[in-house]
Amino acid sequence: MDCIFCNIVQKSTPAKLVYEDEKAIAFEDIHPKAPIHLLVVPKEHLTSLAHANPEQQQLLGHLLLVVKKLAQDNKAAGYKTVINTGREGGQVIDHLHLHLLAGQKQAEI
Ligand code: 5GP
Ligand code: ZN
Repeated sequence: MDCIFCNIVQKSTPAKLVYEDEKAIAFEDIHPKAPIHLLVVPKEHLTSLAHANPEQQQLLGHLLLVVKKLAQDNKAAGYKTVINTGREGGQVIDHLHLHLLAGQKQAEI
């Protein structure tokens, strides 16, 4: 299976990495929609939130805490965290990712 985010995890596709641990990596979005636009991605391939199972509960919590850490590292006064799921949910890349958007006032939803 050819997955662009798996390739970034494996470093066969370049990205501006900003964080890495044993379970997750984070990198800059290639088309930023805010001054700070990072993507937090599990290293294991997980197609979307809709594909997550109870065994991945810890991983899902971990990804949120990585978002928090990166927001703090970037001294974000506030931030928006987005998970798009499925085409109708706006998901384009079929490997779970959390968007961290900051650096300007975010639109209210
Ligand atoms: P989605 O719509 O699936 O939630 O978001 C996918 C995001 O991945 C988009 O914001 C898009 O700009 C970003 N993206 C797509 N391809 C690449 C890539 O090759 N490298 C990086 N760094 N970001 C990408
Ligand atoms: Zn993948």
